[in-house]
Amino acid sequence: MSITTFEELKKEAQSQNKTIWELTQEEEALNSDISVEEVRAEVLKHIVTMRETIETGITSNEKSVSGWCGDDCEKLIKRYSAQKSVFGSLYEKILTYSLATSEENLRMGRIVACPTAGSCGIIPGVLVAYSEEYDLSDDEQINFLITAGKIGSIISNKVQLAGAVAGCQAECGVAAAMCAGGLAQTMAGDINTIFNAVALALKNILGLTCDPVCGMVEVPCIKRNPLLSMHAVSATELALAGIESKIPVDEVIDAMRQTGQLMSPMLKESAQAGLATTPTALSLKEKLF
Ligand code: SF4
Repeated sequence: MSITTFEELKKEAQSQNKTIWELTQEEEALNSDISVEEVRAEVLKHIVTMRETIETGITSNEKSVSGWCGDDCEKLIKRYSAQKSVFGSLYEKILTYSLATSEENLRMGRIVACPTAGSCGIIPGVLVAYSEEYDLSDDEQINFLITAGKIGSIISNKVQLAGAVAGCQAECGVAAAMCAGGLAQTMAGDINTIFNAVALALKNILGLTCDPVCGMVEVPCIKRNPLLSMHAVSATELALAGIESKIPVDEVIDAMRQTGQLMSPMLKESAQAGLATTPTALSLKEKLF
């Protein structure tokens, strides 16, 4: 069974009357010559790493080598200890955990690339925060992550998940789409709802450039993670209400690939345009080097 499109995934899921995570864990077990239980144990290890990263991240304010970033999570925690956020505790946790994970990445700490290091905060931020607030079992969390993983895997069949190839739409954009689908699965969405969550997240981020200052995964990457975490949750909310993406998810991915191909190389991780060449960015570069 080799599934390369969402349409094929849907057909297979419906014909076998299985969920995405059921199909995926069986496929993975077969491909890796291990049991389904071993696949799930491996996925749980990643979730444990995500939790540990967040724990470390929220207690550290160590700056990156550049000295630009590393203490923003501390600021967020201080704010929430003094004043409630607009949207309540789940929102606070998602932003905090996502930022904590991204800051651990810049410190060269331990992270789970999902799908990339630059976009490492989106899925853990939502998964761990939602699991704590709604008391999800390990099994439910594993199902979330397997579903998200399958979504990323299908997208990567058509688009290489790298800012240097297709811009940040292929890193943080795909992470948001994976996260939206995983969350929709957890919130009892059927396969159409999951696909709509993925499509809504992805199509509303098309064209996102990769223009990091000095070519380092710090500005704008770190703060992009908490912001796109909420983008993912919003896409899931719309899909759960029955709001559909008029463009089917497979076609959205085709559009993303085309957009990436048309994007100037100057906006694909080369630090030759966009935020990377603003006067402030150039001044930061001069001081750093
Ligand atoms: S801006 Fe570029 S380097 Fe930063 S997270 Fe996005 S794709 Fe990665």
